[in-house]
Amino acid sequence: MSEEKSLNFIEEIIEADLKSGKHQSILTRFPPEPNGYLHIGHSKSICLNFGLAIKYGGKTNLRFDDTNPVTEDTEYVESIKDDIRWLGFEWANEFYASDYFEQLYEFAVKLIKKGLAYVDDSTSEEIAKQKGTPTTPGVRNQYAERSVEENLQLFADMRAGKYKDGEKVVRAKIDMTSPNMHMRDPIIYRIKHAHHHRTGDAWCIYPMYDFAHGQSDSIEQITHSICTLEFIPHRPLYDWCIEKLEIFPSKQYEFARLNLNYTVMSKRKLLQLVNEKHVSGWDDPRMPTISGLRRRGYTPESIRDFAERVGVAKRDNLIEFSLLEFCVREHLNKIALRRLVVFNPIKVVITNYPVGQTEQLSTENNPEDVNGGLRNLPFSREILIEADDFMENPPKKYFRLSPGGKVRLKSAYIIQCDEVVKNDDGSIKELHCSYIPESKSGSDTSGIKVQGTLHWVNAADAIEVEVREYDRLFRVENPASEEGDFKDYINPDSLTVVKGYAEPSIKDARPADRFQFLRKGYYCLDKDSSADKFIFNRTVTLKDGWSKGK
Ligand code: ATP
Ligand code: MG
Repeated sequence: MSEEKSLNFIEEIIEADLKSGKHQSILTRFPPEPNGYLHIGHSKSICLNFGLAIKYGGKTNLRFDDTNPVTEDTEYVESIKDDIRWLGFEWANEFYASDYFEQLYEFAVKLIKKGLAYVDDSTSEEIAKQKGTPTTPGVRNQYAERSVEENLQLFADMRAGKYKDGEKVVRAKIDMTSPNMHMRDPIIYRIKHAHHHRTGDAWCIYPMYDFAHGQSDSIEQITHSICTLEFIPHRPLYDWCIEKLEIFPSKQYEFARLNLNYTVMSKRKLLQLVNEKHVSGWDDPRMPTISGLRRRGYTPESIRDFAERVGVAKRDNLIEFSLLEFCVREHLNKIALRRLVVFNPIKVVITNYPVGQTEQLSTENNPEDVNGGLRNLPFSREILIEADDFMENPPKKYFRLSPGGKVRLKSAYIIQCDEVVKNDDGSIKELHCSYIPESKSGSDTSGIKVQGTLHWVNAADAIEVEVREYDRLFRVENPASEEGDFKDYINPDSLTVVKGYAEPSIKDARPADRFQFLRKGYYCLDKDSSADKFIFNRTVTLKDGWSKGK
């Protein structure tokens, strides 16, 4: 196939497997544990697994890896499905590792019958001690010598609920001297009297991750099981189980997990932020969760683009948050509806404009989009501009408004500042300006050239809106690696709420709309909005204004 880009290492493996006839087609899976909401790291894995299947005409299963009853919940299952669909992917099958509990139990029985697994009565401390260290071999205890019959009976009794949590475990009998600690008779089943979100109280024994994951892959006949680098030492066990059970040979491949600076990405840590109310919820727009980014105004396209640009690495690294912001800016520039919103207003009276007259100017919704259409913009004698766009004593080369100076009002007229009207305390009350009627945008015959163009709104029908501006959630690049609690590094100023005055067309804003408030940034309507209160989230500023040490 003709390629603009070179293949990543997983694509190379897949192409070789298809070419050699090892596989006729590929089947990948995305295997979240439903113990939290998905984050941007997961989106990398989603884009990779689904993307490979799409590229090579294969399929992807969504499999909930729900073998840990205590932390899992149906709320998480629903949010995960919602987020994957929002990202633009559809799975071939929805499966649950818990659906395989009976089969996994039978697999353990098979190992016991082959003399390759045993029931161990040791405490977890004893097991840990007997395991040795990476430099000293472990030792086997007397339980490893149990007969097949005794093991089968004890395992059945474990299942029947005869024992309490921790009283017994089942271990694979592999090699207590292996340099790989995972191969030193790993635990494959444990007792846990806990309610499971799907199987209820049917089970009081649960398979360990290493005994559930590979076998679930195999049951589904996953061809390429893609996971992150920390699973490299688990691969020999993955292969060992499949080989000894004589089941479909799924293969595991590992790539570098995505890490982003100025945030944390483990569900356990994100849950702490939620539970301890450092954020308003999993979908707080400052969270690196898919639901947070979505509420913040990120688009699926921008996240997929980000995943693509990050690539598939074999070594861990820390990706810049600003790359994610770059991707969303790129996309929003193409699709966002331009709107005028003034944040910190100062009143301008256009003294030569007829009292009581309002004209409707027409302007483009998005100059980047030929199908973007036009909208009306009312203009009359009193308007608001940004206080920051006026200076009474400007420096040289000041292109905004100053006494005697001229600027263009975006999509409207050129105005000149004639008089600064003050309050008793010396502060500015309003500006008196005159406009040049022949300078109307689109039909300007004035011949006057000005350097600055300002955004503005018509005072009479400006709509007050609330704007939530977000900054990095953490003050340091890698909070998880800092000394002490990662929460000590939370940025106290990550949320600023400001007021804005928007042009009247903002009334038509819908939740899916994306906006560029001119000269300000990109925004979207927040779900906290109501019919008479508009609340906007700032997705991202227009330019990358964030540099280290701010
Ligand atoms: P966390 O540590 O955040 O809880 P996890 O790995 O335990 O993440 P899972 O639900 O087990 O979360 O992950 C589902 C899939 O997503 C796994 O295949 C996992 O390797 C992948 N994944 C998780 N985090 C990342 C990441 N930061 N980058 C790439 N892939 C990831
Ligand atoms: Mg996990």
